[in-house]
Amino acid sequence: MGSIAASNSKRTLSNDDISALESLLASTTATVLTPQDADYSASIKRWSSAAEKPAAGVVTPSTSEEVSIVVKYASEQGIDLAVKGGGHSTAGVSSTSGGLLIDMNAKMRKVRVDTEKKLFYIEGGASWGDVDQAGLPHKLATVGGTVADTGVGGLTLGGGYGWLSGQRGLVIDNWIEATIVLASGEIKKVSAKTDPELFWGLQGAGQNFGVVTEFVLQAYDQGDVFCGMLLYPPTPEAVEKVVAATNDLYTPDANGKTKVAGRGAGGVAFARPPPAEGKVMLMAVVLYFGTEQEAKEVYKGLYDAGPVADTTAMVPYPVTNTLLAPPIGLRASMKGTAYTLPIRTEFAQKLLTEYTKFTDGNDDLGVSIILFEVYDPAQVVAHDAGSFANRGWHLNGMVLPMWTKEENDQHCRQWARDMTALFKTELESQAEATSKGVDGGVSLRGKKGATMLYGNYDQYDEKSRDIFGENYPRLQKLKAEFDPSNVFNKLFAVTPQA
Ligand SMILES: Cc1cc2nc3c(=O)[nH]c(=O)nc-3n(C[C@H](O)[C@H](O)[C@H](O)COP(=O)(O)OP(=O)(O)OC[C@H]3O[C@@H](n4cnc5c(N)ncnc54)[C@H](O)[C@@H]3O)c2cc1C
Repeated sequence: MGSIAASNSKRTLSNDDISALESLLASTTATVLTPQDADYSASIKRWSSAAEKPAAGVVTPSTSEEVSIVVKYASEQGIDLAVKGGGHSTAGVSSTSGGLLIDMNAKMRKVRVDTEKKLFYIEGGASWGDVDQAGLPHKLATVGGTVADTGVGGLTLGGGYGWLSGQRGLVIDNWIEATIVLASGEIKKVSAKTDPELFWGLQGAGQNFGVVTEFVLQAYDQGDVFCGMLLYPPTPEAVEKVVAATNDLYTPDANGKTKVAGRGAGGVAFARPPPAEGKVMLMAVVLYFGTEQEAKEVYKGLYDAGPVADTTAMVPYPVTNTLLAPPIGLRASMKGTAYTLPIRTEFAQKLLTEYTKFTDGNDDLGVSIILFEVYDPAQVVAHDAGSFANRGWHLNGMVLPMWTKEENDQHCRQWARDMTALFKTELESQAEATSKGVDGGVSLRGKKGATMLYGNYDQYDEKSRDIFGENYPRLQKLKAEFDPSNVFNKLFAVTPQA
């Protein structure tokens, strides 16, 4: 497991610790679980089964006070502590072997809507589907994960992209207030007004500073959305047409304007989707925040490219986050990458060839996918909130092998590394050729000196200093103040300033 942890000198959990926790929590509604308990295995489950580890004990809290008791105990005793939000990290960073797990997802998923102020009050273990469903009756939505079962916790703390990013920026750009349990056990409400420095740290490097028990996010009026999939046979002609239409819609002009003007989003993918009965297909995922008529005009190039299947329709907003619904519980390795528009047809074609080669003749790998995400990056670039260091005109790509047999672990992880290496070489050569759209030129570093890579998509190989770039020393100061003994050390851990 390649999780990014600082040198972890924490100890495992003993039977005495379990007894101590049971007695500290005796008068509360929190439950302490050990491997013998029936509910234990649900807490250990992760979106990728390869990311599961056997905690010696699990606490499922229902309040910030209960979280505080557990964090304080783990801190004082030097126990290895993991926190599970939605459990979607594929790098094992919400799991612990032999340590203590706080499972926020078990009982802390409530979402309250303030319809007057248009705010979502979201408990720290909620999934984006919980938020979507709470907003639906009020026709309210916010920027959130594009797959409903993903956790609000990890996704927000690392920045957060969603279908609405073209209009509203990142999730952290819409984050108003947090309730956090710090390493000391202190429960603190934090906002840009009350604690600007700590809140800045939470917005991008949040998993370093505590357990967030409540997120307050800005909500927006949101009616029905046009969305769906267009499927094409993987012919060179289809690749050329779909890539050309995508480039035309999303490539920013000299003034940073795109034809979709923040209202379109989606992606271009290579996959073997179920309706194609295992065959490789070229897929265009399309969303449009406007009417069907406008959408059909905007996406004319994609319709003219001759899709053989078309699921597009006007749908309630929550449906957009069920469009891509990779199965839960396979083995998976999410490997993020970056690219800049325009996509070169030859590059797309090469990836398609590699995808076909990888998945051909091995049924165990057939759910894998390569995805170019598309959205209008202007709003993400325009905002500047937080310690998140990867803003820029580049877009996210994703290589996501999914499989079931442990014997395929190495093969699949290596393939993901090989494919993202192709993306990196492409990004470098595009930067050299145009010097446009790539903030850091050929160095592959963005404006803030960070690698041009979304940390939440790549929790395996990247290092904290590369993910946070020039923000790293400032984060070290914060870490020294709020988590000097590195209790929260599992994902892009920041070493406290000496
Ligand atoms: C199918 C799928 C779809 C995805 N789609 C998107 C997307 O649309 N946009 C996007 O930006 N990213 C997306 N991601 C990436 C996602 O942001 C990361 O996987 C993220 O880590 C998931 O958060 P989680 O809470 O579900 O994960 P977990 O594995 O539970 O947690 C990940 C990290 O966050 C910490 N954490 C979680 N909750 C809390 C909390 N309340 N307080 C403190 N720490 C906490 C954990 O300790 C761990 O370090 C997707 C991932 C998957 C697998």
